[in-house]
Amino acid sequence: MDIELARAWVRAIGAAVERDRERLGELDAAIGDGDHGANMQRGFAAAVDAVGAMSPESVGAVLTKTGTTLVSKVGGASGPLYGSAFRAAGKRLAAERAETEEVGAALSAALEEVRRLGGAQAGDKTMVDAFAPAVDAFTRVAGSGGRLDEAARAAADAADEGLRATEPLQARKGRASYLGERSVGHLDPGAASTALVFRALAEAAG
Ligand code: ADP
Ligand code: MG
Ligand code: MG
Repeated sequence: MDIELARAWVRAIGAAVERDRERLGELDAAIGDGDHGANMQRGFAAAVDAVGAMSPESVGAVLTKTGTTLVSKVGGASGPLYGSAFRAAGKRLAAERAETEEVGAALSAALEEVRRLGGAQAGDKTMVDAFAPAVDAFTRVAGSGGRLDEAARAAADAADEGLRATEPLQARKGRASYLGERSVGHLDPGAASTALVFRALAEAAG
C-alpha cells in the first residue's frame, strides 16, 4: 500500500457509505436509533476532504487523519470506534509504502483497539463480528505471500459472511442490546458498514 492507495481506500469508503447510507440507516432503525448511515456518511465525507487537503508523508498519516476526523465528526458509538481503529492502524504504518503483511498487522491493531474500547467479543452482534473474520482472512492470505488485492478480497468476503452471521444473534453491546431478544433476526448495522470498509479496500487495491 502506498499513500495514494490509502487515499483511494478512504474515497472508496466515502462513496460506499454515501451509496448505502439509507440501507445502513434502515438496519440501525430496526435495532438502534437509525443514524448509522448518516453517521458514516458524515464522517467519511469529512475524512475524504481532510485526506484530500493534506500532503501526507506516510501511509499511516492518511489513516491517522481519517481516524481523527471520524472521532471529531461522528458522535455515537461508531465514530470513536472506527476513529480509534483508523488511528491505531495509522500508527503502525510510518513509511511511504507498506508491505501487505504490514497492512495486516495494522488492521490487527485496529481490531484490537475496537475490542479494547468497546469490550465486545465475537458473537455480541457488533462490528467485531465482521471485523475479526476479515482481519483473520487478510492476515492468512498476506502471510502466505498474497497480494494486497487478494488479501483484501478475502477479507471482504469474510466480513460479508460475518455480517450475515449477525442476523440470528442477540445483541450484547451497544444500543441494540437494550432490545434484548427483540434484536434477534436483524443484521447488525456496524457489521454492515465494516463489510463496506473491507470491500472498499478490495476495490481500491484491485
Ligand atoms: P449509535 O449506536 O451510538 O447510534 P451508530 O448507530 O453509528 O452509533 O453505530 C452502531 C453500531 O456500532 C452497532 O451496529 C455496532 O456494530 C457498533 N457498536 C456499538 N457498540 C459497540 C461496542 N461496544 N463494541 C463494538 N461495536 C459496537
Ligand atoms: Mg445508531
Ligand atoms: Mg446514535
